[in-house]
Amino acid sequence: MEYDLVVRGGRVVTGAEIMDCDVGIQGGRVAALGANLPGARTLDAGGLLVLPGGVDTHCHIEQTDGGVTNEETFVTASESAFAGGTTSVICFSGQERGRPIRETLEPYRQAASKAMLDYSFHQTITDPTDAVVRDELPAIVESGIRSFKVFLTYDRVHIDDRQYLRVLAAARRLGALVTVHCENYEAIRWRTEALLADGRTGAKYHGWSRPTIVEREATHRAIALAELVDQPIQIFHVSCDEVAEEIARAQARGLKVWGETCTQYFVLTADDMDRPGMEGGKYICSPPPRGAGENEKLWARVRRDTLDIVSSDHSGHSVFGTRGKSRHGADANFRDIANGVPGLAARLPLVFSEGVSKGRIDLNRFVRLVASNPARLMGLYPRKGTIAVGSDADLALWDPDRKVTLTQALMQHAIDYTPYEGMEVTGWPVATLSRGEVVMRDGKVQAEPGRGRFLPRAPYDLIRPTGVLPDGFDAAAVLA
Ligand SMILES: [Zn+2]
Repeated sequence: MEYDLVVRGGRVVTGAEIMDCDVGIQGGRVAALGANLPGARTLDAGGLLVLPGGVDTHCHIEQTDGGVTNEETFVTASESAFAGGTTSVICFSGQERGRPIRETLEPYRQAASKAMLDYSFHQTITDPTDAVVRDELPAIVESGIRSFKVFLTYDRVHIDDRQYLRVLAAARRLGALVTVHCENYEAIRWRTEALLADGRTGAKYHGWSRPTIVEREATHRAIALAELVDQPIQIFHVSCDEVAEEIARAQARGLKVWGETCTQYFVLTADDMDRPGMEGGKYICSPPPRGAGENEKLWARVRRDTLDIVSSDHSGHSVFGTRGKSRHGADANFRDIANGVPGLAARLPLVFSEGVSKGRIDLNRFVRLVASNPARLMGLYPRKGTIAVGSDADLALWDPDRKVTLTQALMQHAIDYTPYEGMEVTGWPVATLSRGEVVMRDGKVQAEPGRGRFLPRAPYDLIRPTGVLPDGFDAAAVLA
């Protein structure tokens, strides 16, 4: 038989294996791995690595917060993702406090229908009322949105411990994962007020407002309460070693707690925020980049599997414009500068370069960090995150030796800057395939808006509760 397309002569890398073979693609899926496969069309991968397309399970795309919608649309985000070798994302359906989820979820589904890449949603919960928990969440999970996102900080979205317990209990009953932004809300508010009152307003004081301790405390609390309920959780965007230590301790006790870190914590530091005016503001994200030396410690945590996923936490804020970081003025104090850095396209190149090219991790671990593990934890595996017969033919053809200087133009996003401007990487995607379709070649993205598919997620074993409750009493079963 002749395959629709054969990717010929490359070195195929999965999370566990390396094979020199062709990839036969039929009907958008991987149909065969072998030598000399016959194909109606051929894509030459000689001298290249053939990797599973990146799976970025933490991206903010066309999301509306407090009436402001991210500049990054599903179309521009798709272009940026394909440019960087990523083929699937999980982004965030929001909830406005005091409003039912459906009021934001339905328009968000509409916006996402223009995507070129495949996507799923985390459901953010900011207000777990009776109506939300009893009437809305069961149908939302049933529709394939099998993860919740909660914030322990930020004015408009943070929830308190009682509300967090309620979300954990709902997730346990419904079979969903809970992902958590861990920072202590009151501690940050208190320190922010003190810093501003003391005239310390520059971007670098963003870091001072939320030192590692506030992240560690919230992480410890998030884990302890999840243990109380026996509910699996993922700690988002771990920025430093002392937070990873909390996660390692939980994992050693047998708890289902996973740790994610992000590209920026490997390559940015607190010094990046210490630049004049909005130059420093470009690097503001939460948790903030930490002290020099912290990134090497994060790599060590990655090698020990404490942190097993690297996401971008891609955030859609330009510097300029009515929605930009400087919308409250070029000299805005750090509290008024929008949080987040863009990084959809830069993730794979930076993690490959810093990780594989510099000898910190091997190829298989790279694939696990950026594709296989996120797909597994979010219930997308093996459809996504690997190259195996039956998997979607999502591939990144990768030149491991290509040296590239990162620039804003290469990112192909809607944001007006990249925090990684001028950084040198070794290793670069030369083509991206999504379900067998070549959607990027030599930097040129070509795909039809609307071709992306929503990825519903069915129940899966990894996120099942352990069944161990501290004293055997299941409060979550009593209080719905
Ligand atoms: Zn985020």
